[in-house]
Amino acid sequence: MKKIGIMGGTFNPIHIGHLTLAERSMEEYGLDEIWLIPTGYSYMKNNSSILSGEERYTMTQLAVADNQKMKCLDIEIKRPGYTYSYETLEQLKERYPAYEFYFIFGSDCLFTVENWKYPERIFKNCKVIAAVRNGACMDEMQRKKLDLEQKFHAKIHLLSFPNLEISSTDLRQRIRMGKSVRYLIPDAVASYIEEKHFYKDEQEKIYENK
Ligand code: NAP
Repeated sequence: MKKIGIMGGTFNPIHIGHLTLAERSMEEYGLDEIWLIPTGYSYMKNNSSILSGEERYTMTQLAVADNQKMKCLDIEIKRPGYTYSYETLEQLKERYPAYEFYFIFGSDCLFTVENWKYPERIFKNCKVIAAVRNGACMDEMQRKKLDLEQKFHAKIHLLSFPNLEISSTDLRQRIRMGKSVRYLIPDAVASYIEEKHFYKDEQEKIYENK
């Protein structure tokens, strides 16, 4: 049975924090591949301040073009309406019934996932890998993990992960201020951002709300 790591994200833009987490998860849990899935239309964010799905998909594709074990899917940016993870997982499970899916996310999501749409349908179709950044309280994470496992019959792995002080919000701000993003974003993605003049305008200030 193939083990596939699913990593969803706004990826506005994708950075080495996302990619390192994907790589570490693959190594730690013996995953065969990682599928990165840029989100479509979020009901939780100000979408007018986020680059289009196609642009974020292109950047994510560029980020993994040289890695045979990682690929980028456009299923969320193509799906009409708001993006919900339960739908993505059900779609993937239907298309690849023999695969085992691992949904990779930051441990912050452990505290919000219950409020996502149909969390029980998320946990039914995947195991979860939650990245616990160094410095976070492991006891608290363990309690939350057990709580979710009991409530939803979920299977959750806690992955200890270095706290890479890097976020898409900071990167957009650096670009707007003309600062370097070298070594923080893959070169191919950084060149694409420069060529397209993304995140440069004053308008980009509203990106700060993520
Ligand atoms: P994002 O900000 O683009 O980040 C993607 C993932 O990478 C997040 O889990 C994030 O964890 C992690 N990450 C970011 N920077 C990192 C770093 N430096 N080191 C390690 N990890 C890092 O993603 P998002 O917009 O929050 O969405 C995450 C997923 O949740 C998506 O698939 C989205 O569709 C899903 N979601 C679904 C629902 C729903 O179905 N109702 C609601 C909300 C989100 P942190 O968040 O901990 O930084």
